[in-house]
Amino acid sequence: MTAITRDQCVELDRASPFAQSRARFVLPEGCIYMNGNSLGPLSDAARKRMAGAVDSEWGKGLIRSWNTAGWYDLPVRLGDKIARLVGAGEGEVVVTDSTSVNLFKVAAAAAALRPGRTKIISEKGNFPTDLYVLDGVSRFMEGGRRLVTYDRAEVIDAIDEDTAVVVLTHVHYVTAEMFDMAAVTKRAHDVGALIVWDLSHSVGAVEVQLNAANADFAVGCGYKYLNGGPGAPAFVFVANRHLADVRQPLSGWFGHAQPFAFVDDYTPAANIRRMMTGTPPVLSASALEAAVDLFAGVDMKALRAQSVRMSELFITLCEQRCAGFGLQLASPRDAVLRGSHVSLAHPDGYAIMQALIARGVIGDFRAPHFIRFGFTPLYLTCAEVWDAVETLQDIMATKAYAQPEFTKRLAVT
Ligand SMILES: *Cc1c(COP(=O)(O)O)cnc(C)c1O
Repeated sequence: MTAITRDQCVELDRASPFAQSRARFVLPEGCIYMNGNSLGPLSDAARKRMAGAVDSEWGKGLIRSWNTAGWYDLPVRLGDKIARLVGAGEGEVVVTDSTSVNLFKVAAAAAALRPGRTKIISEKGNFPTDLYVLDGVSRFMEGGRRLVTYDRAEVIDAIDEDTAVVVLTHVHYVTAEMFDMAAVTKRAHDVGALIVWDLSHSVGAVEVQLNAANADFAVGCGYKYLNGGPGAPAFVFVANRHLADVRQPLSGWFGHAQPFAFVDDYTPAANIRRMMTGTPPVLSASALEAAVDLFAGVDMKALRAQSVRMSELFITLCEQRCAGFGLQLASPRDAVLRGSHVSLAHPDGYAIMQALIARGVIGDFRAPHFIRFGFTPLYLTCAEVWDAVETLQDIMATKAYAQPEFTKRLAVT
């Protein structure tokens, strides 16, 4: 295998359809940001919009801005923009709450549509909040629902006639393994179960076709690949065919048919607003809208192709330059089965990542021993991928990661 040179990477960047896109993001000098799968970076558009929302809409418009600045419509307007990125239709997506809270609402609502069935199925090793929330749903629901989890290899076959809802994360947060959404959805439907897809590691990174896959429900995250900012609100998808029947348990006033009628009895909104609960976080939703608008001209097929190019480059460079250091690829080698990040396993993973971060290569660590690198063509370049592997190679060869300052665990990894 002939070694890939940095010049070749620079050439790849010149040919990238996203060569101009990086200038839209505000990234610190000397930082190679490979963690957009965990927290997307700030964009100039989001910063300006946030400032405008604070100074003008809140500062000057005050309460009037609910009407005059479009605050009231924001959750659905923004939902429609996200819908385009996940193959959903108009009126099927709303931006509200966090992914955890939305999963609670959606899983409970889905289970209620399948009375008499006892199982809520998910994957062992799914993102922890998903399992914790589903445990909460099973305790909260009447009629003896229980959460049953299976290893990934067994979870599809385990879906049976007693299954009310299957909840799976489309792209796994550690390994980046990707489910075949259409095939798994069909498998669930074949036995009469409903499916909820968690798109937190998919939206804005890989092609998602919820309606083509016939998906029932989905939730997803606003602060990862969508670049909405820390704690940005999340979104919910409900397939149009279920909308009229769905009753979610957190029936707050913003999900009411007439929130400003101030009546005592709850009547859900006829549209997707029924998935909302309380007052939306307008400032963070505004930043998210500006960030999502940056995807308006983006062809998701081209974006995915470039992200695959980058992750393939990273894996090949690691094979060429970091062999013999005990780093194991913990993601599928086949790009078709992989999302938009790559994980490597190493017993000293935590310290290795800390050493990388100290040298400006920012990825992250996931217990017990995984280091993750995200590939985000909107602002990452192939030359940076080359530089990142060069840094990794040096840290491994010199064992720089063994210094005590890199082994001390911080609160957030
Ligand atoms: C990031 C992520 C979440 C985040 O949930 P929050 O409620 O925003 O903390 C949930 N599920 C998955 C699969 C994720 O990757």
